[in-house]
Amino acid sequence: MMAQYLGIKEQYPDALLFYRMGDFYELFFDDAAQAAAALDIALTKRGKHDGEEIPMCGVPFHAAETYLQALIKKGFRVAVAEQMESPAEAKKRGGKAVVKRDVVRLVTPGTLTEDALLNAREHNFLASYACIREAGAIAWVDISTGDVSVIPCTEQNLLHELARLNPSEIVISQKQEEMFLSTPELAGLNFSPLSGASFDSTAATQRIQSVYGVATLDGFGEFSSVEMASIGALLAYLDITQKGKLPLLKVPRRFDLSQVMQIDPATRKNLEITTSLNGSKSGSLLHAIDRTVTAGGARLFAQRISAPSRDLDQIQGRLDTVSTIAGTPILSEDIRVILKQISDMTRALSRLSLDRGGPRDLKALQSGLNGAQQIFDVTKDVDFPQDTKLLRDALVGHQTILNQLETTLDDEVPLLARDGGFIRSGFDPALDEFRKLRDDGKTVIAGLQSDYAKLTEVAALKIKHNNVLGYFIETTALHAEKMLSAPLSNTFIHRQTTANAVRFTTVELSELETKILNAGGSAIESELRHYTALKDSVLENYDALSNVANTLAEMDVFCAVAEVSAEQNWCKPVLKPDTSFDIKGGRHPVVEIALSKQGKTQFIANDCMLSANGKDGDIWLLTGPNMAGKSTYLRQNALIAILAQAGMFVPADAATIGVVSQLFSRVGASDDLAQGRSTFMVEMVETAAILNQADERALVILDEIGRGTATYDGLSIAWATLEHLHDVNRCRGLFATHYHEMTGLSDKLERVDNATVAVKEWDGEVIFLHEVRKGAADRSYGVQVAQLAGLPTAVVNRARDVLEVLEKGEREGGVKPNQLIDDLPLFSATPAPTPKPVQESEIEKRLDDIYPDDLTAKEALDLLYELKQLR
Ligand code: ADP
Repeated sequence: MMAQYLGIKEQYPDALLFYRMGDFYELFFDDAAQAAAALDIALTKRGKHDGEEIPMCGVPFHAAETYLQALIKKGFRVAVAEQMESPAEAKKRGGKAVVKRDVVRLVTPGTLTEDALLNAREHNFLASYACIREAGAIAWVDISTGDVSVIPCTEQNLLHELARLNPSEIVISQKQEEMFLSTPELAGLNFSPLSGASFDSTAATQRIQSVYGVATLDGFGEFSSVEMASIGALLAYLDITQKGKLPLLKVPRRFDLSQVMQIDPATRKNLEITTSLNGSKSGSLLHAIDRTVTAGGARLFAQRISAPSRDLDQIQGRLDTVSTIAGTPILSEDIRVILKQISDMTRALSRLSLDRGGPRDLKALQSGLNGAQQIFDVTKDVDFPQDTKLLRDALVGHQTILNQLETTLDDEVPLLARDGGFIRSGFDPALDEFRKLRDDGKTVIAGLQSDYAKLTEVAALKIKHNNVLGYFIETTALHAEKMLSAPLSNTFIHRQTTANAVRFTTVELSELETKILNAGGSAIESELRHYTALKDSVLENYDALSNVANTLAEMDVFCAVAEVSAEQNWCKPVLKPDTSFDIKGGRHPVVEIALSKQGKTQFIANDCMLSANGKDGDIWLLTGPNMAGKSTYLRQNALIAILAQAGMFVPADAATIGVVSQLFSRVGASDDLAQGRSTFMVEMVETAAILNQADERALVILDEIGRGTATYDGLSIAWATLEHLHDVNRCRGLFATHYHEMTGLSDKLERVDNATVAVKEWDGEVIFLHEVRKGAADRSYGVQVAQLAGLPTAVVNRARDVLEVLEKGEREGGVKPNQLIDDLPLFSATPAPTPKPVQESEIEKRLDDIYPDDLTAKEALDLLYELKQLR
């Protein structure tokens, strides 16, 4: 056995080997040590190898999913080796033959299908990256939908694309492993290196042809050789992990990048689109606004805001659908009630196609098809836009398969087909008979006994059972004579005569006995046959069913948007092909929801107008003290653009947006020490990326660029950056800065306007109004904000003095540092003077002398009278 184990293990050096032994998966050697530690289960020993004890641990087969989930989460991959024959079969091959075992599946993060192992509300992508000379391509598949996509992708925008896709696993060539491992931004991704041969484009062509069963790829459209290579590697990896049992894959298509808003990784992170800066879901845009009720809907919702569209017609169609639904709240309510009862059809289909499904997956499709029909019924008279009408039509026309599922499947079904008990009674008379025999063996025998008693007129006739004879008919010796002679002897066959009884059997009884014995097995066999037939019918309708699943997800997203829009008072944006950007009463969706949840102050809505002449964009230069709300304002406008192009309503009173091609958002000097670059360097690299890439349809948001270096350096860089954005990139932009010196630029640069976040000063303190107005901030209120933050009073006072001298110096034509030091009296850290001792009153003096614990009730009362007197 060990030899067999080691033979298998050798083929999977990078995975833990789950080695099936009866009801357990066992792990040995180092695998055992690693798994025991990761799963917190006991590490024991079993036998010896080369004189050393073999460490071992095991997990029960029926609970394997939970353990697999934990291991995959911790970054392991697991090869599952099953017994390929029964121990009895092995015995037949010879006394000592070991049961045949083989790996049936390599479980990796990108190839999961089980509900228990996946997050229902997130996509799970397996990607591959190929590179031939200068050219590169990324292909990716979602096994649960079978969608295969590919895009050309250079090493430069690799990070970009990976951030958008966020794959669970990426297949790369061994040659590139070094490059991937040494790129700090890629840390945390799951790489699966394959040999260079798997990336060969000629081999890929053959592999693709054989997977799709076609002789030529001409019908798939044009793919470059590096695109072929990346698809080929993806298929090769699926072949390895699924051991040849490939999921149903759709024809690969090239993802059209020109149709989505480009959002680079830094922007995604900064705007907290699907995860917040601390890496958690809560606090992100997605978490705050997602109101979908199905898993498929949730996945689509996340996808929409991760890759907002640039296709004006598509966006318009989606917005019109949302407004139709939002206009009839009862409609959305009706649809959502139905959706809530629907299971995840997409993932059920994928498990069935991989032969990893069960009756519950069939049931999920039944409930989905039923829901689809109901949704069609409630929406059939609704005047949706054309595209949505087409979607809606996909919901119906599946009566045949639905009937088949309904008539075949029971109401409650088990997870696994092999457990049986899921075929509706009445569907198959033979199966009903098997079940009846299995369950009511005794009743059937009792029925037969009374039939025989009547036939023989022997009332004392009994059918009994023992282990030697099985079932038999017994009469007393007295009645035996009658049964041993014709005509009864034709039916009753003598088996045994004992001291006081005679035993018989009949052909009918022995057939019945065999049937009872086999009934259980036969029932399961026949259920499995029906299961396979159903599954095959389902897979024949795979495309139609997956369209239904998609439509349900779309409907869920439309209703969810209508829901959040009504709840948060959002409006329908107007999208245009030019460069307008005119937001009236815009709000930050996440901050607003958070504020209203806390019951705190209301969010202050603000306008933003960057439309300029419709050809080039305007840039607003935003000044204002810290904490005034600059970052919030900047981000809210970016999020509004994302939502609008995702086909959603936006948190504003009105919004007109010219389709944004690229969105950039940067915050100055963010900490990135973990990646070994100075904060300032990061800031500059990121700014360079924007200045080099932003086109005239881009929307650029820069928050305190230049903050990470000395004042004059920072100011100069911010200055030059703004000029470049204005003159060269000519894009729409919001530029927040604390360099007030820059506000003068608005006179020089035609499309730059000053804006400021208003504050009020009252009694030496600053009050934030969070109102964005045209014009420049008068000053920065840094000292007041410092005071709010709790800086010691001595430091605040001293800062005020320094500021005063500096400002005075500036007014009078510049101040030299030395002069400044001379002019200012020395800092004295003497704490604020202690308050003068207050004269103690008579009452207080008297109180000082009192120890309540020592007083009796009477004394206390007297004291009260005394104190009252002193007043
Ligand atoms: P800045 O970037 O100017 O330092 P922030 O944008 O970080 O300021 O905002 C500071 C705080 O003010 C935030 O925590 C937010 O809760 C609050 N805030 C910002 N904008 C608004 C607004 N428009 N209405 C209400 N509160 C706001």
